[in-house]
Amino acid sequence: MSMNRREFVVSTAVSAAIAGLSTRAHASASKEPDVIVIGAGLSGLEAALTLEENGLSVLVLEGRDRVGGRVYTLLDLPGYPEVGGNAIANAYGRCIAAAARHGIEVVNLAPRLFANRAGQELFIGNEHVALKDWAAHPKNPFAGELRKLPPWSWGDAMFQQHMPFRDLENWYDPKHAQHDISVHDFLSAHGATDDMIRLGFDTNIAYGTTARDVSLLQQAFADHWMAVNRGAVTAFSRTGASNVSTGVPAAGVPPGVLIGAFKGGNQRLPMAMAKKLKGDLLLNCRVTAIEVTDQGSKVTCSDGRSYKAKAVVCSMPFSTLRHVAIDPLPEPTQYKAIQSLGYIPITQYHLIAKRPFWLEDGLSPSMWTDGPLGMVLAQRFGKTDDEVTSLTVWARGLNAQYLDRLGVEESSRVVVSEFERLRPASKGLLYVAAVHSWSTDPFSAGDWAIFQPGQVRELRASIAKPHKRLFFCGEHTAIGSRGMEGAFESAERVALEVLASS
Ligand SMILES: Cc1cc2nc3c(=O)[nH]c(=O)nc-3n(C[C@H](O)[C@H](O)[C@H](O)COP(=O)(O)OP(=O)(O)OC[C@H]3O[C@@H](n4cnc5c(N)ncnc54)[C@H](O)[C@@H]3O)c2cc1C
Repeated sequence: MSMNRREFVVSTAVSAAIAGLSTRAHASASKEPDVIVIGAGLSGLEAALTLEENGLSVLVLEGRDRVGGRVYTLLDLPGYPEVGGNAIANAYGRCIAAAARHGIEVVNLAPRLFANRAGQELFIGNEHVALKDWAAHPKNPFAGELRKLPPWSWGDAMFQQHMPFRDLENWYDPKHAQHDISVHDFLSAHGATDDMIRLGFDTNIAYGTTARDVSLLQQAFADHWMAVNRGAVTAFSRTGASNVSTGVPAAGVPPGVLIGAFKGGNQRLPMAMAKKLKGDLLLNCRVTAIEVTDQGSKVTCSDGRSYKAKAVVCSMPFSTLRHVAIDPLPEPTQYKAIQSLGYIPITQYHLIAKRPFWLEDGLSPSMWTDGPLGMVLAQRFGKTDDEVTSLTVWARGLNAQYLDRLGVEESSRVVVSEFERLRPASKGLLYVAAVHSWSTDPFSAGDWAIFQPGQVRELRASIAKPHKRLFFCGEHTAIGSRGMEGAFESAERVALEVLASS
């Protein structure tokens, strides 16, 4: 399948779109709108467009100087690497429909990813371990048949064997409350030692900072969402099955698998959505206070300007909302959720290699390590399927926290020198083209939301409850889907709530 998703040079069309949006940053809201939407990520934009389609006037206030929130593409780097939301899959019906509505093409990365998947190298304790040697390796902590799995597959295998239920839409139902325990306790109860959990779950973690601060219910939801997207749950059709062509079956790609992205970079979707807004979108407006009454609301930004509306939709992650003064305070459980919902730390380093050093040392450029590099993913968005345009270092959990503490300059130095230590052939060939810490980014203060042990039972039901004329959306409020699709799901719900109350 031809992969024309990205090109090497930023197209004039993209540059023009960015310029168009920044002009709007200087627009000023003239008359009082029906609704203020805080945040121009996918959920805020989708909520705003839906409300406008239903006849309400909307003002969008965005703190950053760009739209997209946690969907963020490096449009000035070769191959347009993603810093935020990466991929959509078969169950992303709302995302796929939105792309079609806004004239953005979805392309299937599966053939390219599957063609290169076998090439992820394992580095344990500074040593390169060939996968064929891993089962018998002295540093392999796993037991029985699971010793044969690479560390990145051990957690999945444990969950597949032992997950107590599979229920996408009711994972937070009180009937599952006894499973609102830490993933660590759950894995221990199924015979896992601390060493197994450390390597098989905590290293390059997907939820939480360690297995101790993520609820098994969150993991159950995420696992089942992944299974649905892998096509393992064939009956799932609530959000509409994907009708995106998955292309000519390629070697190693199961038929019908979609690992999709938006042509030209994922940020093209929120940019296209923003252009469709009828009302004003004000960039660089960091919201600092929200006052709500039963009749209407007032939102104040850090520059002192205030805006009034009959209702406010807040799409901010709770990690940033907790720094906003809400008057009056929401009811205690919702307030506790705003203050305490967890967010996974993720920091990325985008590296460019001056020469393909992997041809010199004979290993794949992609790596899974238990050191500060975390995972290194070769971005293959060149003209051919195997051309590497950049390398993304994904530091997650405690690793991201460690690198963040060093600061951008020192941590970049650590990343490059660690890389050169593991791969001597890369010496002098790498430069850091971009760094992004989602934790130190004041407009996200973390990556995706994490329910900690006990939080599903205690907080889930209150998270998205309207507070007088203040309504909530965002991925953290989604109940049956995750990530970008969760953002759209939440926007649908919040728009209905606002319309029903108008
Ligand atoms: C590294 C990474 C990889 C990911 N990979 C995937 C993936 O492969 N697939 C997937 O489905 N999802 C993925 N996601 C998750 C997905 O990107 C998010 O779930 C989704 O984009 C969230 O959308 P949202 O509208 O809920 O929140 P956001 O996009 O965060 O939107 C909230 C908006 O509020 C704004 N805001 C915050 N504070 C203020 C303030 N005080 N005043 C004004 N505005 C404010 C923010 O700037 C932002 O624009 C990934 C995310 C990251 C970061």
